[in-house]
Amino acid sequence: MAALGIINLGGILTGDLAQPTAAGDALRIEDGRIAAIGSRADVGADDCAGLIDALGSTAAPGLIDSHAHVVFGDWTPRQNTLGWIESYLHGGITSMMSASEVHLPGRPTDRVGVKALAITAQRAYANFRPAGVKVHAGSVILEPGLEPSDFAELRAQGVWLAKMGFGAFARNQDAVPLVRAARAAGFVVMCHTGGVSIPGSHAVTAEDLLALAVDIAGHVNGGTTALPDAQLEDLVRQAPAHLRFQISQAGNLRSALRLLTLARERGCLARVLLSSDTPTGTGVMPLGVLKTVAEVSSLGGFTAGEAWAMATGNNADVLRQNTGRLAVGREADLVLLDAPCGSAFATAAAALEHGDLPGISAVLIDGALRVGRSRNTPLANRLARVVRLAAPGP
Ligand SMILES: [Zn+2]
Repeated sequence: MAALGIINLGGILTGDLAQPTAAGDALRIEDGRIAAIGSRADVGADDCAGLIDALGSTAAPGLIDSHAHVVFGDWTPRQNTLGWIESYLHGGITSMMSASEVHLPGRPTDRVGVKALAITAQRAYANFRPAGVKVHAGSVILEPGLEPSDFAELRAQGVWLAKMGFGAFARNQDAVPLVRAARAAGFVVMCHTGGVSIPGSHAVTAEDLLALAVDIAGHVNGGTTALPDAQLEDLVRQAPAHLRFQISQAGNLRSALRLLTLARERGCLARVLLSSDTPTGTGVMPLGVLKTVAEVSSLGGFTAGEAWAMATGNNADVLRQNTGRLAVGREADLVLLDAPCGSAFATAAAALEHGDLPGISAVLIDGALRVGRSRNTPLANRLARVVRLAAPGP
């Protein structure tokens, strides 16, 4: 693929919590990856076959929704909506992780059925990216019929995600052997946290999560019902170092802020993940992750770059993806954004830090422009402009 330059950046959010901003005003993308970050002259942006003038906009890694209820294609049965993933792309989301295909009407719950569903979803999204969005799907739902030996078989078939919390276990902790086997086979295991969302499942307590020792405490601020405060404290204080704490837009905002305070005290903010937990009963929310970033930044006392990193680099780390950061060698999934028209603030970062949603004027995936001016965000003050597009490759 021909090189693409982006010039006149007013800021760069890196997606790296340890160093959330970078100096420079230009990027160079080659073969779908970030090839250079720095000054316009240093990165050789003007020599590129393609050129985008950011006109002062900020570049940031594309948002990763680590709790998305994908099912098949670009359809959600829960809100009976088509085209929702494409709409989320307009909210700056370039990757999403399935929270299991639990919303499939008539979903199977037997041993063969849950495996077949996970393999089918993994295959389907590997073959088809809705609107270009990278969907990590095929999350096997842990059910009592599964055997520990099933995870090696699933892993060999390309399945690497598992979800605990919806299965028909008499007690949640009965799933401990399955979670251990899944993690040993290389799975990333997410567990529901808090009150019941799917009829027939049980509330998941901090004690359950500590016993299960999953990778991700899904919607730790509730999906939608939060843990009691004392349990949230127990969880953060006692969780093993691999356990991530996921905040969801669909959960309880007060509980999310409490989690952030606890994580800051414990020095484990790199283990905080932002997500939407939609489409669900809460709705289809194309701006769900962007809104969560704004809330975490403005109410949680984090810079926009820090909050953005919780929705990008932190998510990419647990999902072991080469996305989520603006750094040389990373997949060039990124957004260009600016303060919205009418805002009291001059930059996207300043707007986010005061709780305003910025305007997006470009979304790129693997270095290819997928969306220009977003149809979902407010209008950006400054809109990035395509100067020239590279000729299509051979
Ligand atoms: Zn969910």
